[in-house]
Amino acid sequence: MLYGALEAGGTKMVCALGDENGRILEQVSIPTIDPDTTMPEIIKYFKDKDIKALGIACFGPNDLDRKSPTYGYITTSPKQKWAGYNIVGAMKEALHVPVGFDTDVNGSLLGEITYGQAQGLTDALYLTIGTGIGGGVYTNGRLLHGMLHPELGHMRLIMHPEDTYKGLCPFHGQCLEGLAAGPAIEDRWGKKAIELKDNPKVWEFESFYIAQALADLILILSPQIIILGGGVMHQTQLFPMIRKKVLEMLNGYLSTKELKDIEHYIVPASLKDDQGIMGCIKLAIDEEALVKSLTK
Ligand code: ADP
Ligand code: ZN
Repeated sequence: MLYGALEAGGTKMVCALGDENGRILEQVSIPTIDPDTTMPEIIKYFKDKDIKALGIACFGPNDLDRKSPTYGYITTSPKQKWAGYNIVGAMKEALHVPVGFDTDVNGSLLGEITYGQAQGLTDALYLTIGTGIGGGVYTNGRLLHGMLHPELGHMRLIMHPEDTYKGLCPFHGQCLEGLAAGPAIEDRWGKKAIELKDNPKVWEFESFYIAQALADLILILSPQIIILGGGVMHQTQLFPMIRKKVLEMLNGYLSTKELKDIEHYIVPASLKDDQGIMGCIKLAIDEEALVKSLTK
């Protein structure tokens, strides 16, 4: 059985074929330009592959409400050429198969839950720190959507006492993304994050903001595991710094076996950057099952 997987990102569209065990059989990458240029190429890739269903994990914000007339649309995306684009509708019309849909980060989280280190858990959190900051939430055995879907990257934070940076988010200035995403690091320090490895202040501030967000999310969502991905987290020195600061910020208020073993609680992604595309395979499998159950 073949399933299609589309990880729709702001710079590239990863298209893949997978099997019912989440195994990736082949994949290609297509640059994300605009719908008129990019979509025909994606459709050309999947056409004639005889997939049973397609799963899309997409940059957003997206409309995930199945009852909404704009379900399956990319809504108010800052990537303006894609704002208001009906990506699910376009793929359904071209391929005539069930199409599962979720946010990019929920896709990565679903990959980790189904095939990776979060298997068997009911509550998990995935945060990606890259060009933007996004968070996926799995709660009580389901991906959280709610009114729209979580937008964890835009939570407001207390500033580090030594930090006077104004923040880069066009909506909020000093939100998590405005302070700690890759472009904010570059704007504040005048160099790419990867070139700042030896500047301890950069990682002191960075770990302070990420830890603050995680301490709040631990209190709000009570996740059983926290997975951190994205380009900035390739700075692996951040992990011990974040873990230490989270414990300091919680200040002993919580005492759980997870927090006592924090090295296995706040962890890097485990699927070698395939978590997103594997999550898309699972979205496809789930959508096929759902459509089958509805037509019985
Ligand atoms: P995207 O978010 O676009 O999908 P990434 O997760 O790779 O892609 O994030 C890109 C951001 O991460 C850029 O701002 C880049 O500067 C930063 N980045 C990429 N690699 C590293 C690295 N090794 N160390 C620090 N920052 C990095
Ligand atoms: Zn913001």
